[in-house]
Amino acid sequence: MHFWLLKDFYRREGDKLKIQVLGAAREVGGSCIAVSTDRGKVALDYGIKLEGPTDEYPKNFDAIIVSHAHLDHSGSLLRLSQSKNKQILIGSKITRDVSVDLLKDMIKVNEFNGTPIGFDSQTADQLKSSWVSSESMDVLDMNIKLYSAGHVAGATMTSLHSGGKSLLYTGDFCFHDTEILKGCNPDLLPKEPDVLISESTYGGTVRPPRDELIDQLLNEIKGTLKHRGNVLIPTFAFHRSQEMAKRLDIAIENGTLPNRNVYMISKLARKITTVFNSYKDLFKQETPPSAKPFEYRHVKEVERITDIDEPAIVVCTPGFGHAGASLNLLNKWAEIEENTIIITSGYLPPDSPLKLAKDKRYVKIDGERYPVQAKIVQIELSGHADQKQLVELVQRLKPKRTILVHGDLNQAEALSKQIEELTDVCIPEKNETMNL
Ligand SMILES: [Zn+2]
Repeated sequence: MHFWLLKDFYRREGDKLKIQVLGAAREVGGSCIAVSTDRGKVALDYGIKLEGPTDEYPKNFDAIIVSHAHLDHSGSLLRLSQSKNKQILIGSKITRDVSVDLLKDMIKVNEFNGTPIGFDSQTADQLKSSWVSSESMDVLDMNIKLYSAGHVAGATMTSLHSGGKSLLYTGDFCFHDTEILKGCNPDLLPKEPDVLISESTYGGTVRPPRDELIDQLLNEIKGTLKHRGNVLIPTFAFHRSQEMAKRLDIAIENGTLPNRNVYMISKLARKITTVFNSYKDLFKQETPPSAKPFEYRHVKEVERITDIDEPAIVVCTPGFGHAGASLNLLNKWAEIEENTIIITSGYLPPDSPLKLAKDKRYVKIDGERYPVQAKIVQIELSGHADQKQLVELVQRLKPKRTILVHGDLNQAEALSKQIEELTDVCIPEKNETMNL
């Protein structure tokens, strides 16, 4: 299975493509893959780990291709300001704008927590000056093309051609449409690449159909409102909160949900919603199309939890419930039986308040534990491909070789078993190098 791996690589005449997985090997977080040709070197993503310190990646790249704005794909970009080498950054325009907003937020949060990371928001803004957004471009001897990946606004897959060899990197992707975004269309992707580098986050998971999950979500909300309970939906500021607000807005508009107090509380989400409104062509259009697709009809955007009239449905950040409105409302509402807390993320960090509330049934306020009486449900509305879609990608593209990244080893191995008849599969270790 690993016959084409060459560890301890040294460059030889005739080598066309060298691939080194610098991050997100056998785990999720810290995505970074170096691709070198005879003349140049690019990085596919430049992220940070979700927990714990991230390795310093090399900075000697000609270009860095940022698949999307999530920090596990873009969070190390600030470190490039320390480099003498001037790389260009490649990615969609909305990825550029949202990445800068998320990096600024990361700087702020770290300062607030007393662990400053040594960069200011000006450094984040400066990234824009080296950003190139084009669907097709040449970098030295490499031709690079970007394809829509679904997942979140602006997410792209990258195809790279050099010296007769071809590579496709998925970044994070999904085929399914959501209320606001079209999924990746596999018909548009280049077929039979020499190597496919695919995410494998849910390589071992087959999810129920999305319509069923949405029905479950709306039924939980309706059931709670019937008992005059509150619904808390902690979510992520980028894309997921806009998607959830739009979902509720549509459900109220078409009568599926009763018209009650629905709020969104998140300064960061509001900032990103402004960016979304300036790229309205990226999103699914309503008929008739509205000037600002993310101006909600029924969801009120408020600043503080004191602005809420109960009972209410509240979409708020952060998604893991460890700070801000999510934490305050969790602490306030978890003790009341009539309330429901809906978790839409598949992953929760261990010891995060939402994880403790769900699994250990308590919340911690000023060091004291209080039992959770509210109903807590997890309805995974993911922007990632599940195993079915990941296998479909391989069936459609017919890559000679497939490298699985961005997935825990058990997920990647489960996927590997499903596709090993179709393609040579490799689940590389960190820093492992492969030659084409
Ligand atoms: Zn992502």
